[in-house]
Amino acid sequence: MKNKHKIQHGSIAYSDLNKPARPLFSKRYMIAGKPDYIVKNDGNYIPIEFKTSKYESPQKNHIFQLAAYCHLVEENYGGFVPYGILVYNNSSQFKIAFNPGVRFDLESTLKDMRHMIRSRDVVRNHDDFSRCRSCSMKNYCDKRIV
Ligand code: SF4
Repeated sequence: MKNKHKIQHGSIAYSDLNKPARPLFSKRYMIAGKPDYIVKNDGNYIPIEFKTSKYESPQKNHIFQLAAYCHLVEENYGGFVPYGILVYNNSSQFKIAFNPGVRFDLESTLKDMRHMIRSRDVVRNHDDFSRCRSCSMKNYCDKRIV
């Protein structure tokens, strides 16, 4: 498969960009997701996520999403995922280490999210109109600000 984005050496093991791929599922965390690409490089599977927006530095929510993909790749492909890659606007890219700190943050954030869902008392944690505008849950969310 041709790597038209030229973002990483290695072979493409998975792609959700050219045609829809099957979601990866985690039994441990009960989450599912589809990275844009998974590239096999030096024996490691590396998830890659593309964003159309342009940022000078990696955004926290994107780091979290990529960390979840790193975990999904470990659980579904086996082995150790050392990092994932975030690509903004097809121009800048950031290597995000899947280190013990990020792994801990992922686990505790997922635990918090589960707790919030069970408590049914969810509070919006931002005042960003554009986030609500592009949110897939906006039609069901009574906290939206658009
Ligand atoms: S619509 Fe609701 S869930 Fe989506 S970003 Fe806005 S507040 Fe959050």
